[in-house]
Amino acid sequence: MALKDNLQNIHEKINAAAKRSGRDGDLVTLVAVSKRKPLDAIKEAMADGQKCFGENYLQDALEKIEQLPHAKWHFIGRIQSNKCKLIAQNFDVVETVDRLKVAKALEKNLSELGKTMSAYIQVNIGKEEQKAGILPEDLEDLVKECNGFSHLELKGLMTIPPYSDNPEKTRRYFKELHQLADSLETKKLVNSPFGLSMGMSGDFEIAVEEGATLVRVGTAIFGERD
Ligand SMILES: *Cc1c(COP(=O)(O)O)cnc(C)c1O
Repeated sequence: MALKDNLQNIHEKINAAAKRSGRDGDLVTLVAVSKRKPLDAIKEAMADGQKCFGENYLQDALEKIEQLPHAKWHFIGRIQSNKCKLIAQNFDVVETVDRLKVAKALEKNLSELGKTMSAYIQVNIGKEEQKAGILPEDLEDLVKECNGFSHLELKGLMTIPPYSDNPEKTRRYFKELHQLADSLETKKLVNSPFGLSMGMSGDFEIAVEEGATLVRVGTAIFGERD
């Protein structure tokens, strides 16, 4: 299928899933994950109306951003703290803040640049050893620290749940992330509604049913990666 049809198909599925949960699909942002995909594919998606793109690998991303500065760029990869300056300089949104050291380094660099940036805290919801993300029990302390910042603006939580080839099995993790956000809202530690970045090609419809405000979809838009 053509990229344009893929995008339209995904928007239709997002809208239907949002409706099933009594929400407006227009309030769900589709981030097209363009990692390891060429510039031409991103240009084609932009021509079809796609605005936000997600990248994991900093060097690759910087080349793309330089060519396409008017797209909205989300950093969704693992963050090394010595790379925070480049992330602060070049991205519009950072979705993978997972520890205080990184949050502080981003805030410091943003402050020096006189720039604000939307941020999501990545939560290791399945408590998997190999995965990045803060553990749920440590989340509240990190949120409180971030609330003292004036350039890094906390907009929500992000997660990559444990892999399963049955997307229904990921539903409980999306529910758990939603509950974490609810509890932060109840304690008035964050703005309500707090964002939820969850759902990828295999499970974005379930994520939207469970309250995702942002889905990160690569393969279903651009095809398999090499
Ligand atoms: C690669 C990636 C995605 C997209 O995965 P697909 O299965 O290709 O849709 C989403 N989020 C993150 C953090 C990724 O690394």
